[in-house]
Amino acid sequence: MSLRIERTKRLALLPPYLFAELDKIKQELRASGQGLIDLGIGDPDLPTPQPIIEKLYQAARKPQNHRYPSYQGLLSFRKAVADWYFRRFGVGLDPQEEILTLIGSKEGIAHLPLALINPGEIALVPDPAYPVYKAGVIFAGGRIVPLPLLEENHFLPHLEQIDKKVAQKARLLFLNYPNNPTGAVADESFFSKVVEFAKEYNVAVCQDLAYSQITYDGYQAPSFLQIKGAKEVGIEFHSLSKTFNMTGWRIGFAVGNRRIIQTLRELKTNIDSGVFQAVQEAGIEALRMEEKLSPSIRKIYQARRDFLIKGLRELGWKVQPPKASFYLWLRVPIPSSSLDFAQKLLTECRVVVAPGVGFGECGEGYIRISLTVEDKKIKETVERIKTASFL
Ligand SMILES: *Cc1c(COP(=O)(O)O)cnc(C)c1O
Repeated sequence: MSLRIERTKRLALLPPYLFAELDKIKQELRASGQGLIDLGIGDPDLPTPQPIIEKLYQAARKPQNHRYPSYQGLLSFRKAVADWYFRRFGVGLDPQEEILTLIGSKEGIAHLPLALINPGEIALVPDPAYPVYKAGVIFAGGRIVPLPLLEENHFLPHLEQIDKKVAQKARLLFLNYPNNPTGAVADESFFSKVVEFAKEYNVAVCQDLAYSQITYDGYQAPSFLQIKGAKEVGIEFHSLSKTFNMTGWRIGFAVGNRRIIQTLRELKTNIDSGVFQAVQEAGIEALRMEEKLSPSIRKIYQARRDFLIKGLRELGWKVQPPKASFYLWLRVPIPSSSLDFAQKLLTECRVVVAPGVGFGECGEGYIRISLTVEDKKIKETVERIKTASFL
């Protein structure tokens, strides 16, 4: 007789998975070879730039890279991060104490609450949001208080509307600008208010800057750490995944407040053993060449964004072009839930989009479309939507 395996209460606390039916239809369509176009996930279709791959080849041949890496990452990688942060944001960082290498930023984000939140303590989590913030807090036994991101406030949270008692009990505040899924951006004045709020209530700030280089029309996303006092209250997570089409490589980093960095490092030392050094060496090359590599990547997404928006507008959809991220966050154009609408698009047009409700309750009424497919497929998407009977 086999064991009766029961998953823990903490796993059961995760938000319910809403997309089983959607996944089933997707699989059936895929199996029948019906030319599915998947605009549902945020994973770049473009290859990692060649110089980064070349560097990995070289680095992989070195025997010293075959051993356990150091926990906090190669000092040379952390120095490359410091150099890039200074060039890009004018922010000075101490590579020894203010930078930690991560196995992708998702890993650091998911682990951070274990280092900062005691059971029952509050974390302020945007809604809609990248789902990992919530999952990390749940695993740490923390209490989630959602911060609604509403269109009328440009998808920024209203910090002044947070209940004082809640704010006093909050230990951690998650932010993510440029934002996934909404494509919204935050300016320095918003970040300044965040610093004030964090100081007043003693809340650690965790700002996720995964999309800093995916920006359009000349817009430059600021770093939270550019704000006076920010380093006293928070850290910023960063990823090479989106900037350099490196999602499969698993490398990211956290920078900022040394006490928070130290605490996360202490936790991680007991969980993982760092990032393959050859990948870190390739990461150094990526950061070193950022200014050369990322403009052409931005250009590709911007052309796709403009093309898709033009097509959707011709169909009568109301779409505002995002300044950043490779997502369009659109109101469902007919009276329908986001899930029903996504299902209709899938069955009738064989086009996959992400239903907004999957990112939180406030995402209801929206869909997220990723620009991570080749131009031909974007064109085809518009053609298919044009013929949809339900629109
Ligand atoms: C993609 C993404 C990440 C994760 O990036 P990795 O470094 O690949 O783990 C983090 N935050 C947001 C908002 C993302 O969209």
